[in-house]
Amino acid sequence: MINLGAHHEEVKSDDCKKCRYRFVCTSGCPVYRIDGKDPQCSLYHKFIPMFYSLVAKERLKLLRDCKMIT
Ligand code: SF4
Repeated sequence: MINLGAHHEEVKSDDCKKCRYRFVCTSGCPVYRIDGKDPQCSLYHKFIPMFYSLVAKERLKLLRDCKMIT
């Protein structure tokens, strides 16, 4: 499909262009986008902030365990 030029790397929806997660999601794989968006968009809006929240909590715990913060 990519060799045939049937994907559109730069075709992204207006939502994607102003989305706060665009640098993580990148609108999904160009081959599977629907109307310029990843079909799993609504899931990304739930899971991306959840993922970063968990990473932040893990780092805070590490800093507390190492007594670098109180
Ligand atoms: S999360 Fe949705 S709106 Fe945001 S960049 Fe990805 S596909 Fe686009």
